Amino acid sequence: MAIYVLLGPPGGGKGTLAKLLRERFGYLHISTGDILREEVRRETPLGRQVRDCMGRGALVPDELVGAVVAARLAEDEIRRRGCFLDGFPRTLVQARLFERLLAEAGLALDRVILMATDDVDRLIKRLTGRRVCGQCRAVCNLVYSPPRQPGRCDHCGGPLEQRGDDTEPTARERLRVYAEQTEPLVRFYEERGLLLRLDAAREGLELLSEVSLALGLS
Ligand SMILES: [Zn+2]
Repeated sequence: MAIYVLLGPPGGGKGTLAKLLRERFGYLHISTGDILREEVRRETPLGRQVRDCMGRGALVPDELVGAVVAARLAEDEIRRRGCFLDGFPRTLVQARLFERLLAEAGLALDRVILMATDDVDRLIKRLTGRRVCGQCRAVCNLVYSPPRQPGRCDHCGGPLEQRGDDTEPTARERLRVYAEQTEPLVRFYEERGLLLRLDAAREGLELLSEVSLALGLS
């Protein structure tokens, strides 16, 4: 049972890594973004608070995200299968909050996996090319993993949609916010000896073997 955090800029390939950890190694995926979007879709009180923040690429308040994470950490399945977090923590304040939540749950963080890159153009291309299936929520990318039939999901044939936060102005704003607020976490976790740095350009088997080796999985 291990707990990991995925770190890296928007568009840096965290989604690919998440899929690997989930499908190949059976870890639970705690994506605070997905959980919050689901709240928005269902128009819950939490969802309504979140909607304005996300629409303009701003960060969701810590107490909201913290409550979502604390609820997940309390689940038995986390202890059985292990998990990885994606989208939290994303500020130093949240990183300290996360240390407290883990301690309260009697858990410890094993590794923070960073998808490292400096190639901003590539990130923008990936972010604006991303499409989500309106039916099964599968994600594809017009640039890197184009659907076989234009506008249709490969898995279920559902309609592909561009998320409101995947347009270019919002993508640039998200990268700016990442550099300012989240990048300091690299140093924070480096100092704690928890950081594992992966090259964000790696994909497929190359990424799989690097992750397996680094985390001692097989
Ligand atoms: Zn689909």
